[in-house]
Amino acid sequence: MSSEPFQPLNAPAADPVDILLVDDQPARLLAYRAILAPLAENLVEASSGAEALKHLMERECALILLDVNMPVMDGFETASLIHQHPRFEKTPIIFVTAVNVSDMDRMRGYKLGAVDYVTVPIIPEILRSKVMVLAELFRKRRELQLVNQRLEAANEALVVEKRRELESLNESLRIANNELAARNVELQSQIADRVSAELRLLEVNRRKDEFLATLAHELRNPLASLGNALNAQALTARTDPLHEAMQRQLRLLVRLIDDLLDIARINRGKLTVQHAPTTLGAVLDSAIENAMPHLSADRHPLTVTVPDRSVAVYADHDRLSQVFSNLLNNAAKYSPAETAIELVAKSDDVGFEVSIVDSGIGLEPGRADEIFEAFAQVDTSLERSRGGLGIGLTLVKRIVELHGGRVDVHSEGLGRGSRFTVWLPLLPVPASAFAPSAVVAPVVHAGCRALIVDDNRDSADTLAMMLQMLGHETHCVYDPHDTTGAVESFMPDIVFLDIGMPGLSGYDVARRLRASNGAGLTLVAVTGWGHAEDRRRTAEAGFDHHLVKPADMATITSICGQVAGRVRDSV
Ligand code: ADP
Repeated sequence: MSSEPFQPLNAPAADPVDILLVDDQPARLLAYRAILAPLAENLVEASSGAEALKHLMERECALILLDVNMPVMDGFETASLIHQHPRFEKTPIIFVTAVNVSDMDRMRGYKLGAVDYVTVPIIPEILRSKVMVLAELFRKRRELQLVNQRLEAANEALVVEKRRELESLNESLRIANNELAARNVELQSQIADRVSAELRLLEVNRRKDEFLATLAHELRNPLASLGNALNAQALTARTDPLHEAMQRQLRLLVRLIDDLLDIARINRGKLTVQHAPTTLGAVLDSAIENAMPHLSADRHPLTVTVPDRSVAVYADHDRLSQVFSNLLNNAAKYSPAETAIELVAKSDDVGFEVSIVDSGIGLEPGRADEIFEAFAQVDTSLERSRGGLGIGLTLVKRIVELHGGRVDVHSEGLGRGSRFTVWLPLLPVPASAFAPSAVVAPVVHAGCRALIVDDNRDSADTLAMMLQMLGHETHCVYDPHDTTGAVESFMPDIVFLDIGMPGLSGYDVARRLRASNGAGLTLVAVTGWGHAEDRRRTAEAGFDHHLVKPADMATITSICGQVAGRVRDSV
């Protein structure tokens, strides 16, 4: 044993651990205590293996210093019993042996899990160092355990906290989801409401278009009677100052009705154009002729600049002429009397452009697009006084578009005039368009026998009156069922048939006449409906001609003239 004073490596342990000293010799126990005292650990003594085991049952030890040579139960047996206990199987043991301990004994000790040996005589520093390291290790393990426990507790708290957070998040999500579902249901019902409102609107719109078309059609009957009466009056050659005014107003009414019908067609996507070869000059001439009454009413001087009138145009002549006459009419309508109006045309290889320029009320900036909408009218007192339905420009735009062109308006502002420009592409004329047209027979003023079938008496009677004045013999039938009888008794050359009659339509009457002895008769449909589809149906029913009410006198004269010519030739 060394007598040198021990210098502690560390400060005394803050948290002393138990060190069990097991030896049957009290002197040795004293020596251990002296050597280990500087470590400031708890030194617990046992004088036998049994006492050592008893101690261990009461408190845990950081290590056991165990004498190998003890009576009754030696060190190895004690170590074996200690390490059999699950709580102490890892407790380190330092055996204290005599120098002469055999290698076999050492092996035995290691098998029992002893970590070390010290031999007697004990070298204090060595024992102290070994004990100190093992005590420190124990302390560290215990600290680690503590830290682990704390970590586990913190982990558990974290798990609980996280679970609580997750649950509250889940709850918020559930509430949000419920709100969303409720909002969704609300939205769905709003969408359903809107869809049904939209459907109702579409239906109302469809009915409005139908109503417009029916109204226009119904208005044609009284207009037909008026037109026929005025034509008949004109044929008496009486110069009545009111007559011209009535003709003018009738023409205006017819135009308004035509516009109404056209807008109904546009809305139903049924406005079509029939392309045929014509020339720019011809289209503009007819437009100017149609607009002339308006232009001259307020004495607007019109300047026309058309460098090349012969430009070949493949288009719907009447519709295109309607475009330019509408624009000319508007130029006159929205300009003070006697102000100049200009029509300027120019063309190149791909298209032609026609501008109509006035120095009238002009347009506010930003309103240019609006005026092409159906029923749109800019609200100023001057134009209000001019009337109109707000349809003309919608028609212009649609017709131009149907020809693949475009229309623009430019105005420097209110009171500074307007310039409407139409650009149209030059379409190639298909070879089929040059088929020889039917030879129009010269107008022959000779009488033919005309049967008129119309349930509207005024319409029938005024047409009869007009035909008589043109030199034809007439007979009227007001009930379509009487037609066959009248044909047999009156033996007409031509039959003017109304289409919409109660009980029997004009189509049915025509079919019956064609099926019986009326093969050679000229059948003329006189109807309020003038669309391509209506013309196709009358042709299919066997009609030769389709006239839209109020029928134009020149056309009637021409048809009757052809029939009369045939009658005369066959005599
Ligand atoms: P309407 O002439 O029957 O009102 P239009 O469709 O032809 O219908 O024209 C729509 C609107 O465009 C007119 O009410 C008018 O306000 C404006 N407008 C048309 N042409 C001219 C023009 N030459 N100058 C100024 N405003 C015009």
